[in-house]
Amino acid sequence: MIGQDNLQDDPLAASARAFNQYFLTSSSDSAAQYRTMISGLANTIAKQIENQQQPYNGKSPAELKAAVAAIDIFPAQGTSLQEVLKRTHELIIESNISVYHPHCLAHLHCPPFLSSLAAELIISVFNQSMDSWDQAPAASMIEQAVCDQLCALYGFDTDGDAVFTGGGTMSNFMGLLLARDRYSKQQLGWDIQRQGLPADAHRFRILCGEDAHFTVAQSASILGLGSNAVVKIPGGRQETTQHLETAISALTAEGLLPIAYVTTAGTTDFGAIGNLEQLANCAHQHKMWFHVDAAYGGALMFSQTHKHKLRGIAAADSVTIDFHKLFYQPISCGIFMLKNKADFEYIRLHADYLNPERNEEAGMLDLVYKSIQTTRRFDALKPFIAMQHIGIEKFGEMIDATIALAAQVSDHIESDPDFELAYRTPINAVVFRYLPQNDDDEQLADLLNEQIKTDLLLSGKAIIGQTSINGKAFLKFTLLNPTTTFNDVTNLLGQIKTLGQTLQLTLQTTSLA
Ligand SMILES: *Cc1c(COP(=O)(O)O)cnc(C)c1O
Repeated sequence: MIGQDNLQDDPLAASARAFNQYFLTSSSDSAAQYRTMISGLANTIAKQIENQQQPYNGKSPAELKAAVAAIDIFPAQGTSLQEVLKRTHELIIESNISVYHPHCLAHLHCPPFLSSLAAELIISVFNQSMDSWDQAPAASMIEQAVCDQLCALYGFDTDGDAVFTGGGTMSNFMGLLLARDRYSKQQLGWDIQRQGLPADAHRFRILCGEDAHFTVAQSASILGLGSNAVVKIPGGRQETTQHLETAISALTAEGLLPIAYVTTAGTTDFGAIGNLEQLANCAHQHKMWFHVDAAYGGALMFSQTHKHKLRGIAAADSVTIDFHKLFYQPISCGIFMLKNKADFEYIRLHADYLNPERNEEAGMLDLVYKSIQTTRRFDALKPFIAMQHIGIEKFGEMIDATIALAAQVSDHIESDPDFELAYRTPINAVVFRYLPQNDDDEQLADLLNEQIKTDLLLSGKAIIGQTSINGKAFLKFTLLNPTTTFNDVTNLLGQIKTLGQTLQLTLQTTSLA
């Protein structure tokens, strides 16, 4: 503690002392308390992960609801931390969906790198805020350096820049926000940031592929353009310039204004990636903003075998990449990359209390001008630590391994008459379905596949994905985890088969009865 308080004379100092136990302070007692808490918790967590046999313990929605409802979350008087952590243990530590388990493979939901868990500890304890230099001097420099080096790795020149975001939703939104505002300024001489939407805004159109992420439509809606402003170009999974040209001609013939085109590098369900080089050329010929949603596929840049699938990405006006998916970072961790950093001007605001212009002149980085958030986490520390530790060669090998595993699993599924493979994805997703025995009733197939997914989830045995193709129910494995083996997956396929047979039998006996 700085200075000596005279407790008798200063009642406020006495109560401040009484608050000490709730904070990490510079007293040795507090430091000891912190160490005990962290090492105790680390022990508990490690034990849980070490011994967790299933990805979920199978607690039902009703059981979880009742357990949570029994807790007075805002009591008048607090409880010991030990007691609160004990309740938390039962509720979340034991009832987690284990991202570490090889049978947790539904979503783009990754096991985080060990090194990133160290980063998270540092992030939360020091609690730097990325909006202004005086809340995060070294952290601001680190985030900027991660952004600069990453821009270079993706082929952007020194005009490129980036900012960390809460994830793909926010990055896609930022891309379309800047697209809308630049179009309006350059083509219509209208400043949306100050004047609001121009009269012609109802004619703005955003093009994207059929399988684009729903956040494209969500962004259009929040941006005041309406989700009807989003036009999905027909042509199925693989977008081509031909599809794009046809869509643009049709829109312009109707007097509409195609302002932006979003392509997905790695669609959420099928991992599809178009030819970015050609698509970029086409979009730019029509003076459209070209946004690449590489939330999922962005990591392929680090794979020597698969990076060619992203050729042309540096031609994008903006790019979305999620570090909390194929980069194995704890949530949240996303990035928004911009080819021309001057485009951040469309969202730049000056607040005297945060980023006065004289700070900039003094070399102090107030990163708030690049973000639509104000207070912001120091998420850049996670890739900063993890990537130095792992190195991009090893990281690339991990990506390769997951894609190779998906190919091996796809072969296996294709050779098994009890399954149908939907599509060979260029990434690590496997989309397939279980086929009923001696019965080609499509309704039965849908019912069985939906039931398989739900039964596995509710029993906690596996967390697998589901999707639909032309109205038919399909299952999905997203093989993100580089520590998962072929054996882990075939074992699960065996369980799916047994479950399918049992469910079919039950359905047929009940319908006969
Ligand atoms: C996950 C995903 C998003 C949304 O990103 P969040 O990080 O969940 O906000 C957007 N686009 C694609 C292609 C995605 O896979």
